This record gives sequence, structure tokens and C-alpha cells, in this order.
Amino acid sequence: MSKRKISIFGSTGSIGVNTLDVLSQASQQDQYEILALTGAGNIERLAKQARAAGARMAVTADETRYGELKDALAGTGIAVAAGPSGLLEAADLEADWVMAAIVGTAGLAPTLRAASRGADIALANKECLVSAGSLFVEAIRTAGGRLLPVDSEHSAIFQCLEQQNRAALERIVLTASGGPFRTWSREEMANVTADIARVHPNWSMGLKISIGSATMFNKALEIIEAKHLFDVEPDQIEVVVHPQSIIHSMVGYRDGSVIAQLGAPDMRTAIGYALTYPVRPDLNVERLDFARLARLDFEAPDEERFPALRLARLALARGGLQGAILNAAEETSFHAFVDGRIGFLDMAVVTEQTMDAMVDWSAATDIEAVFAADAEARRIAAQTIASTKRR
Ligand code: NAD
Ligand code: MG
Repeated sequence: MSKRKISIFGSTGSIGVNTLDVLSQASQQDQYEILALTGAGNIERLAKQARAAGARMAVTADETRYGELKDALAGTGIAVAAGPSGLLEAADLEADWVMAAIVGTAGLAPTLRAASRGADIALANKECLVSAGSLFVEAIRTAGGRLLPVDSEHSAIFQCLEQQNRAALERIVLTASGGPFRTWSREEMANVTADIARVHPNWSMGLKISIGSATMFNKALEIIEAKHLFDVEPDQIEVVVHPQSIIHSMVGYRDGSVIAQLGAPDMRTAIGYALTYPVRPDLNVERLDFARLARLDFEAPDEERFPALRLARLALARGGLQGAILNAAEETSFHAFVDGRIGFLDMAVVTEQTMDAMVDWSAATDIEAVFAADAEARRIAAQTIASTKRR
């Protein structure tokens, strides 16, 4: 049997490393060939991964590090490329299955390129759907690949929809851990630094999504992601805070039944499901011990303390390019917060002001419109940040 061809965009990150681990576990059952691995600043890790996997190509998104990567892979026969064009070269290789795990809007162009070629896309990079939802889904559908969710909530929903009558779907219930500041007042959150905000109670993840869990912007992006993935109305998507992160999400049906997917907070289960769907791989991950867990808690989300959730609803109600604008403004304000230029609560303020400043932007007819809205939102957000007196 021919080997399945795999590329991993963002292989050096948290999802990327977990994906390589799942592949090493699953390769006892199936045969895989690694085509492209991509990273950004972590050249040493990227080179090490490429050698270990016998990759065909390694790409760093950072053009200034091209020489370093080239040197690190000298004599291996592994092709090396860099920058946005290098990422597109990686996308053009004939992988059957692509893990899209670049963080932020930087992942959109290469993922869209691979999708347009007909590859199955295992999607961790939710920003693709938040910014370019309908265009992205349409590109996949036209090219004939499958869109396989990797975000744990969306993988859970995907699993809870399996074998069910789709017409009976009533609602999707996204669970949220509530992040490190679940019980904090706004006054207490006002002065936190990125070092405090990045420490997640249950999951070990990259910096952006960890900060996004603290602001609940991650859940905001996930509401928009769910709308595009599952083609539901915004009012069919509920959010419930579930601090233990054991139930990864649920689907409610017209007969009152609710189907949930549970597991330890470990991304490898969702990655594995996307890899071998519709079958399940054997994975060496922690098993739930219910007696030890003893209880699962739930509470309503608080949109006063976590305005990000309200902004996601606003973006969906306004439609058009508001998803791309929310996403770009949030990413820009995230960088400003990490650099200490604005406070924790300012991230939502900057995002909302940017969304309000661009309400007239019309719907996206092509990807160029998405990139234009993204660039303009970054410009406006940067201006707002520059004029924000750190609270
Ligand atoms: P990470 O920061 O750990 O890794 C990001 C990867 O993208 C790295 O390989 C990095 O080198 C690369 N990268 C960074 N900037 C880039 C740029 N400008 N151009 C190209 N590549 C760049 O992030 P992560 O936590 O692995 O998250 C990756 C994606 O998966 C995000 O969209 C995140 O929301 C999503 N996700 C992550 C988790 C998780 O558990 N970590 C869970 C659900 C969804
Ligand atoms: Mg998630």
C-alpha cells in the first residue's frame, strides 16, 4: 500500500509537536511519509524534526533565518525554503493530509493554497475560519478535500454529530474552561501581565491561545469557527463554562438528548481523530478515572467580565468582513499586550473600537478583500493602541 503523504504547517509549535507524536504512535498501524514541515523562529527544532522525520522539505516563515536553516540541514538532501513564498511552496507539495497549525492570520494563505489543491485539511488554525469562513469552506468543497476540525471543542462536536440525523440538530454547546481569571473581577484583571495570563489551568498550549483563554477571545473565535464548520445559526451556539475541561463540547438534539465527548485535556485525541477519521487510532494518552474526577461543574459565562464573547456575537450579527476585522484587531492587541504596551482589559476595547470603525466594510467576495480588511484592521488597531494610555 502506498504511504499517506503528510505535511505539517507549524510543526515546531504546541499542536505541531503533538501531531508528530500522534504520527509516531499511529505509524505502528499505518505508513506515513512526511513532505513539508514548517516553523518560524525555532530553527534548531525545525531542523531536528525534519531530519528525524526524513521530510522532503523544511520551511521557516522567517526569511532572515533562511541561511541558518540551510546550514542546519546541509548534506541531508532536505529542500529548504523561507518566507511567505516558501510556505506556499510547501503547500504546493502533494500531501494528502495537511495539519494547519500555524498561529494567526499567517496560516491563512498556505492553508487556503493546500485546500484549493484538494488536500484534506486538519484545522487547528481557527483564524482561517474566523477571517475567511465562507470562502475557506467553499474552497475546500470545490477542491474536494475534507475539513477535519482539530480544535478540541470542534472535534468533540464533529464526533457528537457522527452517525446522527443532522436535521435533528438543535444546538451546539461549546464548553469553556473560563481560563485563569474565571473568578476574578475586572479590577483584579486590569493589571495582570502576560506571564500571569499565559498560565492555563488545564491545557498546555502556545502563547496566543493561552492569552486568548484568559480573555476568552479564544472562545469568541471558536463561536465563529463553529458557525462556519457546522453551518448553524449563531443562536444555535451556546457557551457554558466548565472549569475541568473534561467535556470538550456537546450537541443537543430535537428530542432533548445531549451527546457529549469527554476525555483528558490532551490535544492528541483530537489530532488523532482528524488523522485517521472515520476510524480511531490507538493512542497512549491519559484515560479518565471518573471516581477520581468525582464531579463536573458548569456555570454561565459572564459577558460583562469577558466582553470577547459579546464581540463574537456582534461580528456574526454584522456579518461581512467583521470576522476578519475582529481577528486582526485581536491579534494586534495581543502582541501589544505581550509587549507591555496596553493592559489586559484594553485588548477587548481595542478590538471593539476597530470593529466599530469598520462597520461599513462590505462582504468578502474574494480572498483579497479579506487580506485588505485584515491590513486595515491592523492599521486602525495599531493607531488605537498608540493612543491608549496604559490603564
Ligand atoms: P504555537 O505558538 O505553539 O505554534 C505556532 C506555530 O506557528 C509554530 O510552528 C511557529 O513557528 C509558527 N509560526 C509562528 N508565527 C508564524 C508566522 N508568522 N508564519 C508562519 N508560521 C508561524 O501555537 P499553537 O498553540 O500550536 O497553536 C497553533 C494553532 O492551533 C493556533 O491557531 C491555535 O489557535 C490552534 N489551537 C491550538 C491548540 C493548542 O492546544 N495549542 C488547541 C486548539 C487550537
Ligand atoms: Mg479550543
